[in-house]
Amino acid sequence: MMDQRAWIGLGSNLDDPGGHVKRALEELEHLPLTRRLAASTCYVSRPIGPADQPDFVNAVATVATRLSPLALLDQLQALEQRHGRVRQRHWGPRTLDLDLLLFADYRLAWPRLTLPHPELAHRAFVLLPLAEVAPELRLPDGRSVSRLAAALGDHDVSPMLPGA
Ligand code: AMP
Repeated sequence: MMDQRAWIGLGSNLDDPGGHVKRALEELEHLPLTRRLAASTCYVSRPIGPADQPDFVNAVATVATRLSPLALLDQLQALEQRHGRVRQRHWGPRTLDLDLLLFADYRLAWPRLTLPHPELAHRAFVLLPLAEVAPELRLPDGRSVSRLAAALGDHDVSPMLPGA
């Protein structure tokens, strides 16, 4: 398979979330058959779902990969496990959450993998970092990431301050 471009969303809200996200951004450089390209800066967001949990730190990164979409998902899930992710409840706190946001212009609805990620076009904590690193990026249906980001209503996502 030739190199394909994929986009990955990162999130953490436990045990030094900024540290987990920054280490995971570095670990993406070591995935097999994969080169990490751009990474966004970090953002802080209020949790979706149960509100009695810490804020999230979020970022996105892009890779060029010769892995298949499912093989890349396997690698991302293994990386989550290495960060000691414990899923106590749906939408509860987690040490590291990795989402495969986009893979080339694939549209899939497989049991393990939906592409584009189904929440991508609604979530400020994904759209703002995506628009930061790839203002020209379009979804497979042609929608512009920058326009989707600009059209967001109220949201609780802000750039993470240096040193935070
Ligand atoms: P969560 O970590 O709670 O976001 O959900 C993980 C589950 O979603 C796993 O069982 C994955 O197989 C499934 N899944 C479906 N589509 C995707 C995607 N685009 N990125 C990551 N996980 C996905």
